[in-house]
Amino acid sequence: MARFKALQTNENGGRFETSLMERDTDELPAGEVLIRVTYSSLNYKDALSASGNRGVTRSFPHTPGIDAAGTVAESSVADFSIGDEVIVTGYDLGMNTAGGFGQYIRVPAAWVIKRPVGLSLREAMALGTAGLTAALCIDKLEQAGLEPTDAPILVTGATGGVGSIAIALLSRLGYKVAAVTGKAEQGDFLRKLGATQVVERSALQAGTEKPLLKEQWAGAVDTVGGDILFNVVKSLQRGASVACCGLTAGTHFQANVLPFILRGVNLLGVDSVEIPLVVKASMWDKLSVQWKLPNLDDLVQEISLEQLPEAIERTLAGQQTGRMLVRLD
Ligand code: NDP
Repeated sequence: MARFKALQTNENGGRFETSLMERDTDELPAGEVLIRVTYSSLNYKDALSASGNRGVTRSFPHTPGIDAAGTVAESSVADFSIGDEVIVTGYDLGMNTAGGFGQYIRVPAAWVIKRPVGLSLREAMALGTAGLTAALCIDKLEQAGLEPTDAPILVTGATGGVGSIAIALLSRLGYKVAAVTGKAEQGDFLRKLGATQVVERSALQAGTEKPLLKEQWAGAVDTVGGDILFNVVKSLQRGASVACCGLTAGTHFQANVLPFILRGVNLLGVDSVEIPLVVKASMWDKLSVQWKLPNLDDLVQEISLEQLPEAIERTLAGQQTGRMLVRLD
């Protein structure tokens, strides 16, 4: 048994408060692999969990953190030995299983991936679920026929975790990128990531009543949903696709069939959570070699567990820029 530090969200008369606690590894759920977590990262879903969203976390007290990278401390399976460096993202981690905002996690071996040789644990969590999701979006777009052309790829929620890494990856792969943001002051950050054009979010919120908009984008990564997604669908070039992965602007969107039947556009759903481990592993391999980002440090701010509650508030308010890497020392 070991004592360790963890962030814990408690419910108190309908209010949710997140603070640092001491816990024992004995209190962690059953599982084949005990991991000493070195780094985690903050994703929008963690902010939802920490604010009591029952769609993410059913019962409290709870330790959020859908991402974790660290070293195997105990293993009851032959696939993992003490000292192995590993990554866990998604499945139930941080949802209803105590997550990466604690210095230890215990999980099923079926959730665990060995760190790819080309990525450090720190780099893996600089990417985290956001990076994995951005990679899955781009992979799906390329499977649907996307290749670099003169027309840009649109990325919504551009300063967010998924959006910022999608921009960096697309730029690295030779695409032109139009970044949609609500943060006009972050133009320089987005251009440094590789955006060739910055579009104000309000431009994508207008024209919802029109059945079709001017054909502009060779493809799109949409991290926000809502009316913006509908306008993205209506402004895709003939035969182009949008990878839909997020909901910060809303879970619903109104649509009409015209973009689909007149322009043959495609709406591609992306899930990074419950997909088979082998698919996650193949994306991590890509992210560690062919798609490795040279500028990961520009994307992340490193914070401690103590600084997380404030970062969670900023994320919920849509004010966060780039990725938050969480150090668990
Ligand atoms: P972040 O909080 O890092 O970024 C979200 C960004 O969305 C913000 O930075 C902001 O960017 C934009 N935004 C915020 N509020 C609004 C709003 N009301 N309307 C329009 N845009 C808004 O989140 P993540 O990058 O971690 O996640 C993005 C989304 O993707 C989330 O909905 C998350 O749940 C989802 N997701 C889904 C996954 C999957 O497997 N399908 C995996 C990972 C994430 P800006 O100011 O630049 O416009």
